[in-house]
Amino acid sequence: MRRSVKYLNGVPRSLRRALHETPVARNLSFLVEDIVRGYCAEASSHRESPQVVTERDYKYKEGQFYHGFQCERVEYIPDFELTSHTLRHKESGLELWYIDRNDTNNVFSINFRTPPEDSTGAAHVLEHLALNGSAKYSVRDPFFKMLNRSVATNMNALTAPDQTVYIFSSRNETDFRNIQRIYLDSVFRPNLLYLDFLQEGWRLEHSHVHDRQSEIIIKGIVYNEMIGIFSENSRLFRKGLMSNLLPELAYKYTAGGDPLEIPNLTHSKLVQYHQKYYHPSNGRIFCYGSFDLMETLEVLNEEYLCDYDSIDTSYSYIPLHSRWSFPRNVHLPCRLVNMGVSKEKQSQIGCALLMCDRTAVQEVFELNVLTELLIRGPNSAFYKGLVDPNFSGGFNRHTGYYFTSRDTYFAVGLQDIRIADFDRFHELFQQTIHKTIIEGFDPKHVESVLHNLELNVRHRRADDGNNILFNSMALWNHGGDVFANLRISEMMGRLRARLRDNKNYLQQKVEQYFLANSHKLTLTMSPDESYSENFRKAEKKLIQQKINELSPEKLSKIYQNGLELEAAQKAKENTNVLPCLSLDDVEEPMGHPQLTEQRIESVPTQLCKVPTNDITYLNCLFNITALSHDDAMLVPLFCSVFKNMGTRKHDFREFDKMILSKTANFDFKLKVVEDVKDGKSYKIGLLMTTYALDKNVKDMFALCEELLLDFELDDTDRLKMLIENYISKLSVGIAVSGHTYAMLCSAALVSDAGKLKSHLLGIDHIDFMKRYTQQNSTEEIRDRLKAIGAKVFSKSNMRVAINTSEAFQPTALEHYRTFLKKLPNLKNMNKRSQLKLFKPSFHHYAVNFPVNYCAKSFFAVPYLHEDHPVLRVLAKLISAKYLLPVVREQNGAYGTGARIGYDGLFHFYSYRDPHSTRTLDVFDKTYEWLAAMSDKLDYQMLFEAKLGVLQLLDWPTAPGEVGMDYFILRVSHEEYCKYRSRVLSVTADEVRSVVDKYFKKEPRHVGKCILGPKSERLAFKLQNA
Ligand SMILES: [Zn+2]
Repeated sequence: MRRSVKYLNGVPRSLRRALHETPVARNLSFLVEDIVRGYCAEASSHRESPQVVTERDYKYKEGQFYHGFQCERVEYIPDFELTSHTLRHKESGLELWYIDRNDTNNVFSINFRTPPEDSTGAAHVLEHLALNGSAKYSVRDPFFKMLNRSVATNMNALTAPDQTVYIFSSRNETDFRNIQRIYLDSVFRPNLLYLDFLQEGWRLEHSHVHDRQSEIIIKGIVYNEMIGIFSENSRLFRKGLMSNLLPELAYKYTAGGDPLEIPNLTHSKLVQYHQKYYHPSNGRIFCYGSFDLMETLEVLNEEYLCDYDSIDTSYSYIPLHSRWSFPRNVHLPCRLVNMGVSKEKQSQIGCALLMCDRTAVQEVFELNVLTELLIRGPNSAFYKGLVDPNFSGGFNRHTGYYFTSRDTYFAVGLQDIRIADFDRFHELFQQTIHKTIIEGFDPKHVESVLHNLELNVRHRRADDGNNILFNSMALWNHGGDVFANLRISEMMGRLRARLRDNKNYLQQKVEQYFLANSHKLTLTMSPDESYSENFRKAEKKLIQQKINELSPEKLSKIYQNGLELEAAQKAKENTNVLPCLSLDDVEEPMGHPQLTEQRIESVPTQLCKVPTNDITYLNCLFNITALSHDDAMLVPLFCSVFKNMGTRKHDFREFDKMILSKTANFDFKLKVVEDVKDGKSYKIGLLMTTYALDKNVKDMFALCEELLLDFELDDTDRLKMLIENYISKLSVGIAVSGHTYAMLCSAALVSDAGKLKSHLLGIDHIDFMKRYTQQNSTEEIRDRLKAIGAKVFSKSNMRVAINTSEAFQPTALEHYRTFLKKLPNLKNMNKRSQLKLFKPSFHHYAVNFPVNYCAKSFFAVPYLHEDHPVLRVLAKLISAKYLLPVVREQNGAYGTGARIGYDGLFHFYSYRDPHSTRTLDVFDKTYEWLAAMSDKLDYQMLFEAKLGVLQLLDWPTAPGEVGMDYFILRVSHEEYCKYRSRVLSVTADEVRSVVDKYFKKEPRHVGKCILGPKSERLAFKLQNA
């Protein structure tokens, strides 16, 4: 639903510079929820007193006009050190929210309220089509073409259940103006061509375009995208919950489009939809950062808004839902997950309750805090009530407080549960509510939640501007007060005052919203083995019906249309109409971080002085390469469970409260890091990450010490539950990140390090864990985990990075020394393993998704080899000029690309792909394409590819992440600068030479993988290969 250039989700930002991108569409409501949790603040000492407004000298004055816009409101918001403005364009009625802040990562977004009128996905297809050519920029897919003509830090478009958003951010002002013009032209003057509608939306076409006899099927990017999205059960569940909880409003429809409804959308309906909803009066523009506002206002006023008169937009207004007098139940079938737990245990159940109006800002804030208390961590009421009894795989993905719709709602659910246990869920749900109302909340627990919210507001991110918008986007869309939503200290102050004045304040909220609330939906979902078959049958029937509706002339035109579309896709276009940066715009690399290294208590320690807003960041990396293979295989499980088991001094509930009231929690991750210089060896590391307010750093280290030295695994009932929940979580989300899994699989066929990664992080890990836990008792697993823990946390194999402010560094180091003195010196495990490369091979993972994820990987050269920057530029070139036009535009995959990792593996991948072996053939024919275009390689093509690389190299870094490339990969700032200037100086001859060197002959170490549905044809092909 979302076109995403948000690179590398799940990989620390800093590493994005060295690694490569993974364009996975991130799921909107999770994103919004995650961000919102990070949004509360400024705990202590706030009294509910009248706000004293000091006279400020604002740049823009209320009541004044600027290029047709009247400034309606200006306020300074101390929590974020920003000035917030509302302006309105008088003639067209467009509202503009401008945030003036000393942040170079500027954000611009155009939002329209687009409540769906049915499930044909009009808003979604329009989102695709708008970015597919406009009056001034009349080329196919300028959105994708701009990716390589810009250094944007984010370019995105997304269709939410009630609005459509076009957003980007950039730190380069020329770039910012370029994309701004394209976005404005796209939404206000899109071409909306019929052929583009067929390509992006849906069409009937022969499965083989050139074969008139081949079967007629439905094709189209959005059509395939939605099939891909709903192949993930968690997405079906979420959709089912929202549409059945709000059945009288637009939310009952699927804004992205229901695959069986999309073919009811016509081109003319789409054009009408645009006229109706993309009027400035129905739009909102967000502008954030340090760039001059006047230029934006001038462009808007003179080039776009002057064409419009303000209109009444009450047609797009979404009212509150009427309240039910009785709870309701709904049951849905879903796909059986063949990688998941046994079929009997694959059901889900969830309960949703309608809460308050999204525009009630303080109430939403308080319900957010209440939700944290009810569902987050082992001290929360629903965790104790529903998860602890251990009859499921833990909370499902749709558990939390949701405020993207007009009426907000709370949902809690369990995954991997038996149908026989549905009643038990109901009983326990009710019991939990009653118990909470009677017993109330532990003040220490409340304090830990409030502290964590405060810490999260202090924590600076590199994309603060995007976060501010996402946090307020739904509120703004429904006409709420977005300024109030930023005043977090004030909301926190009011909540604290209420808690002080009324000891039962939170219980009363539980009573009001959970007990006395009959607008309650219980949704259950169970796998149906014929689910996929039923969909295929319904699709067949639909195709037949569509064919029957056609006149003989139109029917015979299907063949012709297919050829026409293909010709249009292959036609050469004049991309010169698109703006592009020049070398002068991007010459300067990022500044030098203030890093020093010293041995403290014999531990190599990297110190970074950086303004952190009173926070200290700690990263400890333990080299565990010397662990046996069997031990290493259990490290991911160890990382997941051991911090949640408590210590010898405190049980897990007590310890969790202590952690959350002093730190931002502890995170443990496994890292397999290849040598970036010679690519001949690798290490395995266990990385611990945490941060705390400076005033809590002493406690943070004391907690580290307790956790690492005194962890306790003896409570086998709890351990058993955590292990089962861990396995349940593994099989969720595979379809969403399918290309990442596919690349892990293909890399596993190239080297032993790749194989290890796949066994520790990929599909193979799921299989391994399922088998391992079936064959071993909890007691046996406990003993193995204990043994691992006893070997790894040692000074002898540890390296540390601390990021803190210059002023606080001496104090932080004092506490750090005390901590190190307590850590033991065990057997030194510092070592590296020699990398082994394998012979070429292929693997097909049969999964029951209706789409494929294809990957091919081969070993080239590691990061610091002189050819690496050239290959990286080449990968961008292959992605933009070869794979996108063929695999996406012509063959209908949602995403595709080529990349080279710091480890030296060169990958090709496709995402939500209707084809399998055909895509692998495209990958294999890369050299033929490269050879054919060799002479046509010009400066502009090369420069665009370089910009694509630069986007990642110059990615903004948050204070807590500065220096992490050096810490993890040992890539210094000097090496980064050298690499960067090498990227900028790559010549066409150099590209030709690496093409000959690495692509001409089939590589010696290559792996191919398809993750997709079972296929007899494929099995046959493999047998005969
Ligand atoms: Zn989409």
